[in-house]
Amino acid sequence: MTRLTELSIYPEAKLTANELLDFLSASPTAWQAVARAEEELQAAGFIRYEQAEKLSLKTGDKGYFVQNGSALLAFQIGRDPLKQGFRIFGAHSDSPALKLKPQVISPSEGVNRLAVEVYGGPLLNTFFDRPLSLAGRVSLKSDNPLKPQVRLVDFKRPLLILPNLAIHMGNTSNEGLKIERQKDILPFISLQGENDEVDHDLLRKLLAEELDVDFDTILDYELLTYEAAPPSFCGLDDCFISAGRLDNLSMFKAGLDALIHNGQAEDPGTGIKVLLITDNEEVGSRTKQGAAGLFARDLLERLALALGADRADFLASFANSFMISADLAHAVHPNYPEKADPGHRPRLNQGPVIKQAASQSYSSDAYSSSAFRQLATAAGVPCQTFVNRSDLRGGSTIGPISSALLPMPTVDCGNAIWGMHSIRETGGVLDPYYMEQLVRYFYSL
Ligand code: ZN
Repeated sequence: MTRLTELSIYPEAKLTANELLDFLSASPTAWQAVARAEEELQAAGFIRYEQAEKLSLKTGDKGYFVQNGSALLAFQIGRDPLKQGFRIFGAHSDSPALKLKPQVISPSEGVNRLAVEVYGGPLLNTFFDRPLSLAGRVSLKSDNPLKPQVRLVDFKRPLLILPNLAIHMGNTSNEGLKIERQKDILPFISLQGENDEVDHDLLRKLLAEELDVDFDTILDYELLTYEAAPPSFCGLDDCFISAGRLDNLSMFKAGLDALIHNGQAEDPGTGIKVLLITDNEEVGSRTKQGAAGLFARDLLERLALALGADRADFLASFANSFMISADLAHAVHPNYPEKADPGHRPRLNQGPVIKQAASQSYSSDAYSSSAFRQLATAAGVPCQTFVNRSDLRGGSTIGPISSALLPMPTVDCGNAIWGMHSIRETGGVLDPYYMEQLVRYFYSL
């Protein structure tokens, strides 16, 4: 057996994976992920442009826009930008979680529980019996009623827990589990004294303390749960990554690092390099910060106009453009090999996976898949293919949505993982490196 550590790429791949763990720890929600990306972009000389700003750009310029605090479009202007078109790498920033309801305290039997909605499609059984924390954003009173102040918050400590029912009290989950969202999914935050009145302001008080503001300045919040335990490596030679939000912050990070790397190159290559990060993929993308919204197309048009083009030039630039839509893929699970198509069996640590579907739930076609394979070969990266079993519908992603609004060849791809949408997903230690190498090459063209 060849040990992973004997591979020549292992040290660098481990470093890339370590940086990913850092990024995941700093990014419990899409808002924190975008804020962290901003820090990294700014440190690398990318300029933040405001949406209200009038732009003028030239080759060599690099910058970014933020949409709603949870989506991002970063760019670098290469040589001959309009003729060569856009080179877009897209990924989503959100992950499945529990989202706090406005009227959040729900007492029962001396315990203060939090009322939550389910965001996206998490594997709910994985949320039981593990300390959870809370993060998101809070809006505060401001002078302009239309523009409340926004602050990010991350409690960074175990605050909630959702205990299972004991096996002796009729818990039949070993035989199969039916989870009722309204009844079963209410994490516990505190115990109540017998004669205490229910404190419905408990959470707001906690937020005021955490943000060091007056209680009555807090107007509203968007808070999501995340697992308090940090991500980690696992397995012989740390062959696995065990972490929440690999879907899809690992692809966000690969694109971010590749763009920043290209931003340091003496020759930026040709065309307009774009990192497109959209929110709300887990709930259908149809929002102002989602892939089904217009913000990405509008911003791309603004980049073209800022380079001195007109609308016809912008539309013509699509002819030479290309998009990689990156979102995670399913590795064949050794305990359930029958769940994967017999001819398409992606594995961990074997490189990015091209995702195809006759239903067009993935945007890849023979043309864009071939281009992707050529990119992988040129970058020295292995590459695999996924299709659903014919009797399974499978998932979808931003590729088909984006390519309907940005009609250019688009490929859907992503690294292979197990346990997608679990509170801890399992990926391979080499794959983040492989994906980043491929995207670096794509941006360098
Ligand atoms: Zn995803």
